[in-house]
Amino acid sequence: MSTKPSPSLLKDNEEKLSSALAHLYALGATHVPSTREPGHVVHVPFSLTPRVLSRVCFLRAFELAKPFNILVDRVARSPDWLIRTLRAAGEADAEFTGKLLDVFEHAIEDGLQSRAGATRGEMRQQYMLGIHRSDYMVDDRSSRLLQIELNTISSSFGCLSTQVHNTLGYIHSRYRDHLENNVEVQVSESLNKIPEALKAAHECYVKNEREKSSSISSSSSLSPSSSSSSIVTFPPIVLFVIQEGERNIMDQRLIEFSLSKHNIHCVRATLFEVSQGARRGVRVSKGEVEGPVNSGFKEEEKEGALYYKGREVSVVYFRAGYTPNDYLKHTEEEWAARDVIECSNAIKCPSIGYHLAGSKKVQQALAAPGVLEDYFMKDRPEDVALLRSCFAGLWALDEDNTDDISIGKGNVSGGHAEAIIDAIEHPERYVLKPQREGGGNNVYGKALSEMLRTQGKEILAAYILMERIFPKEESAVLVRNGKAETVEKTVSELGVYSVFLGNGSENGRDERGEKRKEDLFVVSRADNSGVILNEAAGYLLRTKPSESDEGGVAAGYAVLDAVVLI
Ligand code: ADP
Ligand code: MG
Repeated sequence: MSTKPSPSLLKDNEEKLSSALAHLYALGATHVPSTREPGHVVHVPFSLTPRVLSRVCFLRAFELAKPFNILVDRVARSPDWLIRTLRAAGEADAEFTGKLLDVFEHAIEDGLQSRAGATRGEMRQQYMLGIHRSDYMVDDRSSRLLQIELNTISSSFGCLSTQVHNTLGYIHSRYRDHLENNVEVQVSESLNKIPEALKAAHECYVKNEREKSSSISSSSSLSPSSSSSSIVTFPPIVLFVIQEGERNIMDQRLIEFSLSKHNIHCVRATLFEVSQGARRGVRVSKGEVEGPVNSGFKEEEKEGALYYKGREVSVVYFRAGYTPNDYLKHTEEEWAARDVIECSNAIKCPSIGYHLAGSKKVQQALAAPGVLEDYFMKDRPEDVALLRSCFAGLWALDEDNTDDISIGKGNVSGGHAEAIIDAIEHPERYVLKPQREGGGNNVYGKALSEMLRTQGKEILAAYILMERIFPKEESAVLVRNGKAETVEKTVSELGVYSVFLGNGSENGRDERGEKRKEDLFVVSRADNSGVILNEAAGYLLRTKPSESDEGGVAAGYAVLDAVVLI
């Protein structure tokens, strides 16, 4: 089977194209173009030629979803390991990674103060929601599925990818000229699964608050003023934290539309707007509430609850906050907003711990020998093997791991030295990655070699070095702004979404219900305790011209695509 566009495909492009465009617009698979005018939308960029992928690799990527979910949860609830691992990167990248660590440390302190007997890492809100996306490429030489990165914040394109798959499925069934008849376009479940995960977290919050309120009202019969009447802001809202001037709006709105069918009200706000409109509840009597915003809020507050413009917030869903740009305009207020959210009782998607667990430095540290085997996944050896099967070569460039290396100034030796020397000589075999998300930040080629040769650890500690993966190059028809173009050499990146909702009791306590010690993951415990949701949630396939080093769709490098299996 070949994915080469056949002559008939190219001849029929015009009809196919208009058909595909009509289908995409009908589904609302649009975004706002960069020259934004109110009401102006364009279709999402897409490929007209679904990609053939090995069934084994595709299923393997889905199999990895649950173990990665568990791993992220364990990492996020192991504050000392996380802080130790990110310390050097935080110092080298004080303006962003350092600030995220500050928020994390504050949330840890807040958790300790929020209830008697809490241990480090038990946050005020123990439930955490993950909507992750693990990205992979299939290395052509080894046929191995290798992880590019794990996104734990703002994993986007879930909803739009389902729409693109629906469109490509329709086109394939209508024309059937470039793929064999018996293959099906795989349609992602993310359009349903992502809103469902947010709904589950919202319901979990509501249920817990109701339980709390009934226990308060039954235990406080002598004090009617603090009775369950304090919960006046129900039902709570889901707060989407968004970027100013967001272009990828439809991907977010589709989630909102879905939640509204369940009468869950979503409110969108930038970090700055959150700083102006949000507050954390303190226990005061009726009418005494103070603070920057108190619109319409008269009754007694719930301590630690998050209120936005007077409405209680059940879940905060971040579609912003993952890049320093989101904290540039009103820096102090924007970081204060992040802080108030983290130290509140709202369920965060993601919590600051989940966010940090998805950083590139953590990805590298988890790949180091023994970290999974002896520590995080000691009780799950079968998961260790599965996880390791997708790790590419990853090397640290920070102090802890390169004590015996003097990078760039000669004297290179030690565990990572070989890779670093090789990278200086053969930069085309590597990628240098900073602690950044959102595309356009990696360093390649000559610049990579130059950086490794000339920069010291105080700069390089914010980077990791990664083996370059070389996926198979294939021809494809890419469509942008209504125009189809055949590109001879393209490569694809597969992302698998996963959703997880848990309160840490699986990962944070031993089988007798006692708090665990930081270095101890007790082996036998009920597998599902405290875990409400742990599953794969559909996929994203992005295709880009091979010569483009970066892979972002929003950034204009890649287009959305679909998978057919062999
Ligand atoms: P970001 O957080 O900016 O998305 P990524 O690690 O996903 O960072 O890198 C961006 C893009 O660079 C990827 O989408 C992929 O196209 C390319 N890339 C990253 N790592 C590798 C690698 N090891 N081999 C080949 N390409 C890579
Ligand atoms: Mg990426």
